[in-house]
Amino acid sequence: MTVADNLTNMMETIEDACRSCGRDKDEITIIAVTKYVTVERAKEALEAGIKDLGENRKEGLLEKYESLGNEANWHFIGSLQSRKVKEVIDQVDMIHSLDRKSLAKEINKRAEHPVPCFIQVNASGEESKHGLSPDDVEAFVDHLKVYEQVKVVGLMTMAPHVDQEEELRAVFRKLRALRDRIRDKQLPHAPCEYLSMGMSNDYAIAIEEGATHIRVGSSLVG
Ligand SMILES: *Cc1c(COP(=O)(O)O)cnc(C)c1O
Repeated sequence: MTVADNLTNMMETIEDACRSCGRDKDEITIIAVTKYVTVERAKEALEAGIKDLGENRKEGLLEKYESLGNEANWHFIGSLQSRKVKEVIDQVDMIHSLDRKSLAKEINKRAEHPVPCFIQVNASGEESKHGLSPDDVEAFVDHLKVYEQVKVVGLMTMAPHVDQEEELRAVFRKLRALRDRIRDKQLPHAPCEYLSMGMSNDYAIAIEEGATHIRVGSSLVG
């Protein structure tokens, strides 16, 4: 399938999901996750109308950035080692995986302007998952006010691989409730308006539960 065909199918699903919960599809940013595919395939995604690309490793990001540069908005979605921040900080538009103070400190040191960051939350509580425990997120956000170049734009999570829709919804709802609480504090360094949640298998449910940024790889670009 071409990316354009996949995107057409995906837009139908997104429109259905939006209709069922009274949202506007323009509220949703589709991030095509290109970590499994070539530069050519990433380029095809841009030609199909995608504007946002996501990579989870430094090498993949830099390889694609080298060819496609400013044609895309770049999202870093994987766990980020502090020592690699300086190599990607000028290329990325958003970081979805802020999960510790040392990383915030390094971003602050290397960035020349405020970097929009999502805080990664382990909303399902699975041991294998990265991210802060939901109970620790508010204190962490509070701590981040000392870093002028770190702007908390939202929360991100990876849902568990489960078939039970209700279990998934509960995870997404938990993230949304936490986002609402932080957003409502109106902290200057943490507007916290966005929710980065939903992947190939669960993006429709994530949209119904409030996702603003969905990160879709296999079902969109392969
Ligand atoms: C790979 C990846 C995705 C996309 O996963 P698919 O199931 O292929 O859509 C989304 N988010 C993160 C953090 C990823 O690493």
